[in-house]
Amino acid sequence: MSNLKKYEFWFIPGSQDLYGPETLEQVAVNAKKIADAFDNNPNIPGKVICKPVVRNSEEIKKIIMDANNDPDCTGIITWMHTFSPSKMWIRGLSLLQKPYLHINTQYNKSIPWDKIDMDYMNLHQSAHGDREHGFIGTRMNIPRKVVVGHWSDETVVKKIGSWMRSAIGACESKKLKVLRLSDNMRNVAVTEGDKVEAEIKFGWSVNHWAIGDLVSRMDEVTDEQIDAQMDSYAKDYEIATEDTDAVRYQAKIEVALRSMLEEGNFGAFTTNFEDLYGMEQLPGLAAQDLMKDGYGFGAEGDWKTAAMTRIIKLMAQGRPEGTTFMEDYTYSFEPGNEMIMGAHMLEVCPSVADEKPRIEVHPLSIGDKDDPARLIFNGTKGSGIVVTLIDLGGRFRMIVNDIECVIPENDMPNLPVARVLWKPLPDLSTSAEAWILAGGAHHSVLTYAVTADEMRDFAEILGIEFIHIHADTDIDELKKELLWNDIAWRLKDI
Ligand code: MN
Repeated sequence: MSNLKKYEFWFIPGSQDLYGPETLEQVAVNAKKIADAFDNNPNIPGKVICKPVVRNSEEIKKIIMDANNDPDCTGIITWMHTFSPSKMWIRGLSLLQKPYLHINTQYNKSIPWDKIDMDYMNLHQSAHGDREHGFIGTRMNIPRKVVVGHWSDETVVKKIGSWMRSAIGACESKKLKVLRLSDNMRNVAVTEGDKVEAEIKFGWSVNHWAIGDLVSRMDEVTDEQIDAQMDSYAKDYEIATEDTDAVRYQAKIEVALRSMLEEGNFGAFTTNFEDLYGMEQLPGLAAQDLMKDGYGFGAEGDWKTAAMTRIIKLMAQGRPEGTTFMEDYTYSFEPGNEMIMGAHMLEVCPSVADEKPRIEVHPLSIGDKDDPARLIFNGTKGSGIVVTLIDLGGRFRMIVNDIECVIPENDMPNLPVARVLWKPLPDLSTSAEAWILAGGAHHSVLTYAVTADEMRDFAEILGIEFIHIHADTDIDELKKELLWNDIAWRLKDI
């Protein structure tokens, strides 16, 4: 059983008293069968719990208030097997604080041509019952996912499963605490942002601790703790250096940093190479290994990317593919083979490695500290996305680009950092032009495990602008989208 079963999704069938108890009993039985089928389907990550049929405004209001107050409830799924007049839903839906999916399905797949009569028609009327329900969502301007099709259809099931991951991301977002060690890199614009607005929109609590808090904790780390951390490194990675002291120093950073993260219940952290007072090395291997364990990370004080790395890792739970902090580093403009090499000074997550990562120690030309130990590897091949989040001064914008990661054809013996090579869609020049016009950062989250559609649903749940750069992106159309979005979002804020 997936550990995602701790996330509950309430399946709420709607009806009314008009049809009599027999029909309502049948609605309840059919709803339970559908909810159970979803719950037992491996494409459904969360737990689906069928709730009693709601028949009036009071029952609807009560179940939505219960959903709001239940910390395990990660979203609601509504379905109108019969007609449920939607003015009855206004009082409840006006209070809704959880992600919301409306499924327009029908218990029976086919029309029983030789038996169909008005009793059948009165029971199987989601074709118009769900339209009545859809109207009130639109009238009340409530963000929700609409999925249409027979509940046994795997395409329908997968859409619901994907949305659940977005809902899990949104619910985890509301709980996230980010540990900022030091401030943002001096003079960098895109890693800045409004942390108050971020807490209002995303729920992130983003706060600062001094690097000295980490240094003093490092002083308390014992040799035994370092030995245990070194054993863990030796198990997961190839130690390809003679400079054991440098590796042990990263182990000491990791033990201390992990204890800070655990004690404070933080899900993500940032560092800044400009502020390493009292430290001998920039956290490299330590940051990489913590990312592998699911912590979000952002370099140079980039708390937005740190938070998104954490959330995307949580959305991806149970999927084998990796997710990492990333930076567009160097281009290949070779005709016909244009691509981006992504890397960072040190901190790429080994969950995206195509090979057993090697621990090596090399000088770092920035920061004026000792040579840091780091993991070196090539990223794996496969389809993925890069995700960036920017603060436009009045709102946040998420930008996602579809990418195709490739294995390098050449060795890079002199490059002492982990790297991932990718071909962005639709092509490098269009993708980069679109990304730059949209204001995308140089930092991003690269994931092979979560799709652009899942990120779109996440953004919609939280009310964040979303721009998708994909195989069919056209610059003229994108410019219009950016202009119209700008106007729409400014009106929205009024
Ligand atoms: Mn950077």
